[in-house]
Amino acid sequence: MTPKLQDGCGRNIDYLRISITDRCDFRCIYCMAETMQFLPRQQVLTLEEIERVSHLFVSQGVRKIRLTGGEPLVRPGIVGLCQRIAALPGLRELVMTTNGSQLVKLARPLADAGVKRLNISLDTLDPKRFRTITRTGELGRVLHGIEAARNAGFSAIKLNTVVMHGRNSDEVPALVDFAISHGLDITFIEEMPLGDVGRSRNESYCSSSWVRERIASRYTPIDSAEHSGGPARYARVSGHPDTRIGFISPISQHFCDTCNRVRMTAEGRLLLCLGHEHALDLRGLLRRHPLHDAPLLEAVQQALLRKPARHDFGNADVQVLRFMNASGG
Ligand code: SAM
Ligand code: SF4
Repeated sequence: MTPKLQDGCGRNIDYLRISITDRCDFRCIYCMAETMQFLPRQQVLTLEEIERVSHLFVSQGVRKIRLTGGEPLVRPGIVGLCQRIAALPGLRELVMTTNGSQLVKLARPLADAGVKRLNISLDTLDPKRFRTITRTGELGRVLHGIEAARNAGFSAIKLNTVVMHGRNSDEVPALVDFAISHGLDITFIEEMPLGDVGRSRNESYCSSSWVRERIASRYTPIDSAEHSGGPARYARVSGHPDTRIGFISPISQHFCDTCNRVRMTAEGRLLLCLGHEHALDLRGLLRRHPLHDAPLLEAVQQALLRKPARHDFGNADVQVLRFMNASGG
């Protein structure tokens, strides 16, 4: 099928990431400040509005939708929403990024609802550090959640780790061991300067090439050309066919030439690029045109022409004022 959504650089857009809520039960130090003001509920899109936008994008050739947040699993009604989005004709896969805290209860219902793959954030295997990094989270609960997800029948589960010097960088090999011994993929992410989180990010910045060298001290990573429709570059380690190691390198090696995605925030702003403020107010359009999608589609097509060619995070501490939980990471 011919892709229908194209940006001004000729890139086809077939991947939509939706932030279901800006709220979260954790306060990760790279994502949020210690005290956060969340959106008033009436400013957040309703589940029906989210479904309508999903339908619109899928009808225009979007093949992959990721539900994220904030923490998507703290939003009431999430399983029903997944069921309805997964059933949209033409959607190839509905996937989700979660912190894992609710998976003991929700892994099976999500898999049954049609969520194909899960990304679960895990930055450390040390309970005390886990509490320090997430400020409120409990490692044991997330590990049980990962176990529940492994038993629930997802086609793939990937761990996401933001690597920070002085916080968890010494655990890179142990996290790879964990992924291998549980038959999971793992992706290491460079920290991005989104929002003022009250600490200098430069001090803890860890490049993907540094992480790769740490992995090479224990394993032999072999570059792989495979991709999962997102920004990660992958490697395999010999002798462990069930685990892929991914690197997301928004700072050291941007991946903008092949960008195929846009994000919608919880309040319905269509963000054209994570590293810029260019956005379209979809909520206003949804509420002004409750019965007709044509004005929304026209506005989306026009907005895509303004999608920036690339982001450039450089090394300033705060480059985009919005926090990651508000961006749909
Ligand atoms: N709450 C869910 C979770 O933590 O997986 C989903 C939302 S979270 C914003 C999505 C992903 O963004 C997580 O893997 C998290 O580690 C990552 N993330 C958050 N802030 C980040 C930052 N400043 N730089 C890089 N990755 C970040
Ligand atoms: Fe919550 Fe995810 Fe942000 Fe952590 S990274 S505070 S779990 S939204």
